[in-house]
Amino acid sequence: MRDNFLSNLKLVVVKVGTSTLSSKSHPMDKHAVKKISDQVCGLLDKGIKVVLVSSGAIGAGMHLLGLKARPKTLNHLQAAAAIGQAQLMKAYDEYFKDHGRKVAQVLLTRDDLEERKRYVSVKSTIQTILEYGAVPIINENDTVSVDEIKFGDNDTLASLVTTLLGADLLIILSDVDGLYSHMGKKEVIDTVREINSGIEKLACGTDKETCVGGMSTKIRAAKVVTDSGIPMVIANGKTEGILIKIVNKEKVGTIFIPRDK
Ligand code: GLU
Repeated sequence: MRDNFLSNLKLVVVKVGTSTLSSKSHPMDKHAVKKISDQVCGLLDKGIKVVLVSSGAIGAGMHLLGLKARPKTLNHLQAAAAIGQAQLMKAYDEYFKDHGRKVAQVLLTRDDLEERKRYVSVKSTIQTILEYGAVPIINENDTVSVDEIKFGDNDTLASLVTTLLGADLLIILSDVDGLYSHMGKKEVIDTVREINSGIEKLACGTDKETCVGGMSTKIRAAKVVTDSGIPMVIANGKTEGILIKIVNKEKVGTIFIPRDK
């Protein structure tokens, strides 16, 4: 099955959540950022272009500011994101440089993808970054995003970027091994052929301080991309070499099959 959908990958969008980038002691652990960077460079070495959608700004900002709880007011949240985003890009820049690779920061709001002129411009700018051989690292522009213009979570943002670029695959890295077949049971569903109400019921939200999203936003993201004829894989970001395993078609995580390709 995976052979049909994961062959000839030319462009892959990878979404990394805060849970993948954090450790017990740090919400943006540099070793975790390095591991992801090394793996993305492994994909580039295989001739696969990668667009990274990375969370972690608010977590990194909270840590730097010594905040134990997620700020409650919008301005404090936006300020933490601004401070953390610089840390996040600094770490990515350093680790990609070790492989002789360049990165580009792209911060988006929902508005950017809703108005035609801006949509076209975002698309061609990302394509140009890829032509330069650099890796676009996308996050929501939390510092200016207010409710009306917000994606709200990076699963949604990643799904929209995937369809915008007509990528071949979206990989969402999470802190679980995939979509579990029963609530509370650690039995991963290998393949989802149709996102029906049964599948939607398996999703639940999140209660972590640094995270938004949870399985329900991932299922929604899967719906967006599979409706556009693109497959999606949810897998555990902490599994050693997970990105390489996925593109090598190993049986890891859950694959959502596109409606038709
Ligand atoms: N944009 C947020 C951040 O960088 C995260 C949003 C999300 O994790 O979905 O912290």
